[in-house]
Amino acid sequence: MALIVQKFGGTSVGDVERIKNVAKKVIATKKAGNDVVVVVSAMSGTTDYLINLGKQTNPNPSKREMDMLVSTGEQVTIALLSMAIHYFGEDAISYNALQIGIKTTSDYTKAKILGINTEKIFESLKQGKIVVVAGFQGVDEEGNITTFGRGGSDTTAVALAAALKADRCDIYTDVDGVYTAAPRIVKNAKKLDYITHDEMLELASMGAKVLHDRSVIFAMKYNVPLRVVSTFVENEGTLIVKEYNNMEDLVITGISKKADETRVNIAGIPDRPGIASMIFKKLAEKNVNVNMIVQSVGKDSKSQISFTVLNTDVDDTKRVMEEVQKELGADNVSYDQDIAIVSVVGIGMKAHSGVAAKVFEVFAENNINIEMISTSEIKISVVIKKDKADDAVRLLHQKFFE
Ligand code: ADP
Ligand code: ASP
Ligand code: MG
Repeated sequence: MALIVQKFGGTSVGDVERIKNVAKKVIATKKAGNDVVVVVSAMSGTTDYLINLGKQTNPNPSKREMDMLVSTGEQVTIALLSMAIHYFGEDAISYNALQIGIKTTSDYTKAKILGINTEKIFESLKQGKIVVVAGFQGVDEEGNITTFGRGGSDTTAVALAAALKADRCDIYTDVDGVYTAAPRIVKNAKKLDYITHDEMLELASMGAKVLHDRSVIFAMKYNVPLRVVSTFVENEGTLIVKEYNNMEDLVITGISKKADETRVNIAGIPDRPGIASMIFKKLAEKNVNVNMIVQSVGKDSKSQISFTVLNTDVDDTKRVMEEVQKELGADNVSYDQDIAIVSVVGIGMKAHSGVAAKVFEVFAENNINIEMISTSEIKISVVIKKDKADDAVRLLHQKFFE
């Protein structure tokens, strides 16, 4: 007998028929002799709808109340899925994060999981029940509801699988695996049978929303066998693994696009030690994650720094940068939302030389201006204008895969 965690995303539980379909799949897994813990997202569109409601009520909503609001989406689907399982004659029980004790930091809208109580889940499993858990939500030390950031139900599932020492964690979604690029952008993107944790983490962090980035970190850290599979078609999906044979044969493994960041530019700042440290420390204190960073020295020994932050962190960033501007006597701070980050990822980069040159060639040949660049051992990211991003992904895909 195995213990299996199955997670179903928003489209998979998008209406009552689909919830019944999920119930049947879960019951089949249970009837095959397994213990089953199911994690569900809100019905597709619900989280967007709730965020919108909040912003209509107050354009500057408190983050605590936002989490209280958006976490309700998952509470609807756990109840409906349990009812559907009952309807088909199996026993099930739903739990929200408070009931189980999914303990997190107090960073509303991007809380991190600190620990999960497994007692109640094991008790229910022992009673023969299918356990249905709300994704995306946690509880801080004071009992406040928190959420993990968009797409965070994946992280609930993998963290639960780690805490329960589950035999595997299957992420059921509306595509049948991880592809070489977002299938909605690249029509002939190819499904991957395997991808390494490192590659998946880079792709997920840089916009491939098929998995939440923190779920990959949990899988890596706790050796959770993780798979992405389709709710709607039967096949093997994609395994996320530590390593596989010939993994360096491919020059690159995937391409992603991230279009939810803003570029911040602070110009006319002193060119001396300690400036970058001061700026990024203040941002970190406000819990703003900075992604790409470029510093350049201009004339009169003044320098400028550009960096990108999530659009959802722009308000906090503006507050910090106002302070910084005053303190440094900087000329000006500007914000540009009209950008996207396109990334090329692959372990193969370590073994093949000239990948960066080939990437930049694609942009040059197609007259797409690169505004920022950052690289890691297995990734090359560039910032370009937003309206060029889909084309860039397609052109890179042609160059490397077709
Ligand atoms: P769920 O609601 O099941 O969590 P998501 O919408 O969060 O589903 O994630 C699945 C979607 O991710 C797919 O429908 C696909 O459009 C998108 N996607 C982006 N990049 C990739 C990729 N490289 N491989 C597969 N899907 C991707
Ligand atoms: N419902 C949340 C969202 O839409 C979490 C998730 O789907 O994983 O972001
Ligand atoms: Mg998702």
